[in-house]
Amino acid sequence: MDYQRLVNTSPRRQHESANTTVRTGVSASTLAHYGGWVTNDAPWQGGSLGDQAHAILAPNPGPMTLDGTNTWVLHAPGDDVAVVVDPGPLDEGHLQAVLAKVADLGARVTLTLITHWHHDHTEALPRWVELTDSPVRGGGYGDGLRDGERIAVGSLDIRVVQTPGHTADSVSFHLPEAGVLITGDTVLGRGTTVVAHPDGALAPYLASLDRLHEIAAAAPTRLAPAHGPTHDDAAPVIAFYREHRRERLDQVRAALAAGDADAPDVAQAVVERVYAEVPRDVWPAAKASVQAQLDYLAGTD
Ligand SMILES: [Zn+2]
Repeated sequence: MDYQRLVNTSPRRQHESANTTVRTGVSASTLAHYGGWVTNDAPWQGGSLGDQAHAILAPNPGPMTLDGTNTWVLHAPGDDVAVVVDPGPLDEGHLQAVLAKVADLGARVTLTLITHWHHDHTEALPRWVELTDSPVRGGGYGDGLRDGERIAVGSLDIRVVQTPGHTADSVSFHLPEAGVLITGDTVLGRGTTVVAHPDGALAPYLASLDRLHEIAAAAPTRLAPAHGPTHDDAAPVIAFYREHRRERLDQVRAALAAGDADAPDVAQAVVERVYAEVPRDVWPAAKASVQAQLDYLAGTD
C-alpha cells in the first residue's frame, strides 16, 4: 500500500482532513491516524509519564504508526532494574536511545514485554535480546502472559490485562501504583485503531475497551499508548473509542440496509459507500475493518 501521499500531507492539511472526516463520518481507522480527534495535536516526541514510565519514540512514523512506535521504559525510582515494553522497529539508534535511558535511570533491563506481535513492536527483538540478554514475554515470545497476572520487577507492580481485538494476542499493562495504563495499539494517543480481520475481531475488541474503561474510571489513570501522545486522563479517550465503534457499526448497518447486503462483494460495497471520501490507497485497510464489522453484525466473530 502506498501511504506516502498521506505521510507527506502537511500538518495543516491533515487537520482539515481530520475535520472533514469527522464531519462526514468517514474517518476510517487508518485514516483517522493522520488526522485525529484529540485536542492534543502537537507533534509527539516521547517523554516521561510520571516517574515510572518513559517513552522513547522510534523513528518509524507513518499512517499506521502515527509519530512512530513508543518504546516504554518502566522503572521505579531507586531500583537498579527496568522493564522495556515493545522494543519496536529494528533501528540501532533507537535501541541505543532506549539503552541510554535505562542507563540514565541507573538500571539494566531484566524483562522485555510485548503488547502484540506486529512488526513495528517486535522487529528489533533479536538484536534487542543480543544487547540486553533479557527474557521476552508476550506477542508469542517466551512464557505467555496470563490475564490478571501480576509481574513484580524491583518495586514495579505491573498487571497484565488481556485486551484482544486489534490482534488476537493484544495485551495491556496496568501499573496501579503509578496510575499508568499501557495500551499498545488497543487505544492510541491520536485517531482510532484498526481491528484487522481476521486476526483482530470486533466483539473481543469492544469487550477489551469496556475492561480498560473500567480500570481507567476506577482511579486516576494516565494513558500510555504505543503510538501518539500520552493523555493524563485515559477514561475519556477510551470512552471515545467505544463511541466511535458504535457510530461506525451504525454506518455499516445503514449501508447494508441501503442495498450493499446484496452486492457480490459486500465488504467492498460497504467500503465504497461508508469510506467514500477516504483515499483509495487505504481502502484495503478499511476493507479489513469492514470485514471485522460484518462478522460482528453476523454474530460470527
Ligand atoms: Zn503498532
